[in-house]
Amino acid sequence: MTATWSVNRQLFKENAKNVKQDNQIMAVVKNNAYHYGLEFAVEQFLDIGINTFSTTSLKEAIRIRKLAPNATIFLMNAVYEFDKIRENQIQMTLPSLSFYYENINDLYDIQVHLEYENLLHRSGLKTLDEIKEVIHHHNQNKNEHKMHISGLWTHFGYADEFDVPDYNIERAAWLEIVDTLLDEGYEFEMIHAQNSASYYREQGVLPNHTHARIGIALYGSRPYSTINESDIQQSLTVKGNVIQVREVNAGEFCGYSFAFEATKNNTKLAVVDVGYGDGILKARAQHEALINHKRYPIRALMMSHMFVEVDDSVNAQDEVILYNNHIRVDEFTFKGVGANSEQLSAMNHDSLIKEYR
Ligand SMILES: *Cc1c(COP(=O)(O)O)cnc(C)c1O
Repeated sequence: MTATWSVNRQLFKENAKNVKQDNQIMAVVKNNAYHYGLEFAVEQFLDIGINTFSTTSLKEAIRIRKLAPNATIFLMNAVYEFDKIRENQIQMTLPSLSFYYENINDLYDIQVHLEYENLLHRSGLKTLDEIKEVIHHHNQNKNEHKMHISGLWTHFGYADEFDVPDYNIERAAWLEIVDTLLDEGYEFEMIHAQNSASYYREQGVLPNHTHARIGIALYGSRPYSTINESDIQQSLTVKGNVIQVREVNAGEFCGYSFAFEATKNNTKLAVVDVGYGDGILKARAQHEALINHKRYPIRALMMSHMFVEVDDSVNAQDEVILYNNHIRVDEFTFKGVGANSEQLSAMNHDSLIKEYR
């Protein structure tokens, strides 16, 4: 009896297929594939015909290259290890005008994607003029060994927000850039902008774009709440076990720092073998756990234990599910516990038993 983190391979793959449909997807596999496991995720994505990957770390990009010799691999952060980028045929963002001018000679033979900054202000060229400046300067560079411009991209920072107009603003600014460049005869092998939220909002890939750059939907969580649960399925289960069921009486406190005060005599508390040390967020423990298909309130969270208030039907050794396809990560995202990726990233893979079934 140890708490486990497990993924159903078949369901993972079915979900990815269902998210992909007939579209060209660049699978975002950053942060160990949202903690689903980089090797596992790349293998499943290749299996369903996704051959384009994206991450933020060079180390991960090189691991992907070993797994997928023919894949297109795009590094969303600029790095300065240019030889490693060339050796592993990794395509990389061009994050600013100054990066271009400062590293122009080191970038030879590297395929870059010109990045447009937009509203997030994290990275990118600031204006259409800056984009054109790079292209024109590059075209006039007579050096035999120089970089190649193979893509154009941006990141929408507000596609998950519905109460503000910012998505429409960044979307319009970006489409204007793309349309102007294409109208003026510029060509790019790849054009990509959309995260999961934008992909669902637009019901597919935007016009003139070659790929949507999808993360969380491929991992089974909905980016916003009005998407049907059946459209995106969660293959991950995180569960512990009831170690024992104890009774407490009205006025007795349970857990450290008086975490929970029983208000009734004979209150039944299941002591469960999973806690914040395993990566269950404190905010998640404000909600329920699933035992024998019924939901029960979590009453206190400790490092390797939690208390769940139960009834007579719950016994020692029963499974206590914190996450599965019926009590999903995205449910708690919409209840304010934290982003999908935040809940997933918190999981402690050193303390939980990790299984792919
Ligand atoms: C993480 C990330 C994505 C994927 O976003 P999801 O919401 O998980 O689909 C796409 N683009 C960039 C630049 C990212 O950092």
